[in-house]
Amino acid sequence: MLVEKNGPKCGCGKKGCFEAVASRTAIVNKIIKDVKSGKRSKLSKFIKSRERIKSKSLTSAVKSGDKVVRKRITEGCDFIGGVLASITNLLNLDMIVLGGGMIEAMDFYMLPLIKKSFSEHAMDDAGKGLKIVASKLGDDAAIFGGIALAEEFLGVRV
Ligand SMILES: [Zn+2]
Repeated sequence: MLVEKNGPKCGCGKKGCFEAVASRTAIVNKIIKDVKSGKRSKLSKFIKSRERIKSKSLTSAVKSGDKVVRKRITEGCDFIGGVLASITNLLNLDMIVLGGGMIEAMDFYMLPLIKKSFSEHAMDDAGKGLKIVASKLGDDAAIFGGIALAEEFLGVRV
């Protein structure tokens, strides 16, 4: 989904995709740039040793009040809320379930920010009553989705 024309390059080869702007990788890349330009962060040691920065490390940085990490995650949440609002304006959804490592690790921090941005951008009637929640299925989400599809389209009870 294109969200920023001529935005950052995405893993799919195009520019400005939602993924390239608001995914963990996108957020981490911005934090790396911040640290390389001299800003201080708890994640500096990972960046210096070129270690992969996982959601767990991001969460502990957020909990400890790391300003760089909080700022970049807040920006990501602002983007996510805006995109979810646009999707809701178009489709008039009842519920949006967010999954993935980051939201599972820090829904306490991200969900309120996403909801705030969502309510700023959603049309009143479309956004009214919509629930935005974090997935509780973790890595099992895909398999449960497969089971639900089999039951719905094949008429089998799994
Ligand atoms: Zn892409």
